[in-house]
Amino acid sequence: MTMKSSASSPTGKNKAVFLDRDGTIIEDKIYLNDPEQIVYLPKVFEALRLLRDQGYIFLIATNQSGVARGIVDINNLHEIHRRIRARFSQEGVDLLAFYYAPYMTHTDHPLRKPNPGMLLRGALDYNVNLSQSWMMGDRMIDVEAGHRAGCRSVLLGDRETPEGSIYAPPEICSPSLYEAAPRMTSP
Ligand SMILES: [Mg+2]
Repeated sequence: MTMKSSASSPTGKNKAVFLDRDGTIIEDKIYLNDPEQIVYLPKVFEALRLLRDQGYIFLIATNQSGVARGIVDINNLHEIHRRIRARFSQEGVDLLAFYYAPYMTHTDHPLRKPNPGMLLRGALDYNVNLSQSWMMGDRMIDVEAGHRAGCRSVLLGDRETPEGSIYAPPEICSPSLYEAAPRMTSP
């Protein structure tokens, strides 16, 4: 008899939480380029442990136009992601992959949110059932990327609101990851 992974859904696929980085798991420093400047948002570790225990896997999807602008050094970006992954690992949370879109805002590149390319790539790489998955972020472009990928979406914080957005509203609005987590049940 084999133990079935808690991350497996009835379809045999994983359910995932795709996470924005800046303003979602760490403070948004606007073009963070210094690994020493990483500041984790309150209760993010507790929040992801709750979601882990619901069977979700975690993939990061972050727009990084600062790379295209020459403000963010690619080696620093990789070091920032290495440190974030190591810290979450210490906290019992496995961030499986960091997808980033190093393209300018105006490019409308398929990997740049609100386009769903990073989520679709993650779904292929990690055998994700998108209809059982969520995108979480602090901007309406995060919400839209989730919807375009076939996920449900959570809008965090008060930096942006659905009202007046050109994009469809999220399924959940929440002040924080931690408060959203108990509401993110499977369909
Ligand atoms: Mg953000």
